[in-house]
Amino acid sequence: MSPTASIPEALKAWYEAQRRALPWRDAPTPWRVWISEIMLQQTRVSSVIPYFERFIARFPDPASLAAAPLDDVLSLWAGLGYYARARNLHAAAGQIVARHGGVIPDDPAAFAALKGVGRYTLGAVMSIAFGRRLPALDGNLTRVICRLDLIEEDPRAKATQDRLWRRAAALVDDPQPGEINQALMELGATVCTPKSPACLLCPLAAHCRARAEGAAARLPKKTPKAARPTQRWRAALLRDEGGVLLGQRPTEGLLGGLWEPPQAPDEAGLAAMGIKTDGEARVITHAFTHLIWEVEALEGRAVEGGVEGGGYTAFKRVAEADLGGVALTGPALKALRAWGVAAPKRR
Ligand code: SF4
Repeated sequence: MSPTASIPEALKAWYEAQRRALPWRDAPTPWRVWISEIMLQQTRVSSVIPYFERFIARFPDPASLAAAPLDDVLSLWAGLGYYARARNLHAAAGQIVARHGGVIPDDPAAFAALKGVGRYTLGAVMSIAFGRRLPALDGNLTRVICRLDLIEEDPRAKATQDRLWRRAAALVDDPQPGEINQALMELGATVCTPKSPACLLCPLAAHCRARAEGAAARLPKKTPKAARPTQRWRAALLRDEGGVLLGQRPTEGLLGGLWEPPQAPDEAGLAAMGIKTDGEARVITHAFTHLIWEVEALEGRAVEGGVEGGGYTAFKRVAEADLGGVALTGPALKALRAWGVAAPKRR
C-alpha cells in the first residue's frame, strides 16, 4: 500500500491483511456480531472468546435467549463482569421476538429502541452486520482519532465527544463501513495502543498529525480519575451438608440477579437476617469502576430458623462442587476463595 493511499483505502487494505482470526468474524451474522460487540465492551478479546463460543452454542438466536430463564443467562455470563449487559441482552431478545418475529431488524431506529443498545452498539452492529454507514466510537477509536487529528482537548468533554463522533461518521462514509469500523477498532487494539503506539507499522502514519508532532504517546489527554468511595460489608459463610448458603441480589441495581454469601453493612445487619458470625475476618477488596468494596468475610451460622431479609430476593444452598455453575458476584468468588471453599471454576 502506498504511503499516500487515502485513509479508507489504507485502513481496508491493512485490515484485510492483518486482522486477527476471531470466532465472531467467521460467519458474521447480526446475532453473532451483536453478542460479540456486547461481550467485548470493557473486556479483553482473550477473555471473551470462550464465553462467546459457549453463549452462541447455548443461544444460537434471539428466540432461544428470550426463552431462557435469566438465571441461566447470568450463569453463562458468570465471570465476564458487567452483568447489566447480560440482563439487557436477555430483555432485548424478548423485544426482538415480540416486535420483530425473532429477527434482528435491519433498521437503525428499531434496533436503537432495544434494551441496552447505545450509540456505540448501534453503529457497530448496523455497520458490520448490515453495511450501514454509522459510526461506532469506542475507546480504541477515540484514541486513534485523537492522535490522527492531534486533538489535545479532553475526549470526555461534550464538545470533543461531538467532534469525535462527527469524525468517526465521516470515516465510515464509505461503501464498506463495517470494514472501516472494524479496521479502526483493530488498529487501536493492536497498533495504536495506549502506551507505545507502533507508528512504524501503522497504515495511517502518513496521515497522522500526532505522529508528525511526536505527540502520540501523550494523546488522548488523560483526565485524573475521581476518587472512588469505599463501602464496607460483612459477609457470612454458612455451610452445612446441604452446601453453602447464597442469597440472590435484586434484579435491578449493582450485580443484579447474581448470587453471593449473605452480607450486610455490619454485624447488626447480619443479625437482622438471623445470622451470627464467628472467628477471624478475612478482608477482601473489590474495585468496581465507581466504588470499592471492602468485605470482611467470616464464618457464620443461622441463629435459629432460617435466614431471611437483607434485600435478597431468594436464598439457596449450593453444594461446593456445584458453585462453578452459579452466577456469583466477583466479590463472592474472592470471599469463597479466602474461606478456602473449593474455588469455583468457570465453565
Ligand atoms: Fe496511532 Fe502512530 Fe498510527 Fe498515528 S501513526 S494512528 S499515533 S499508530
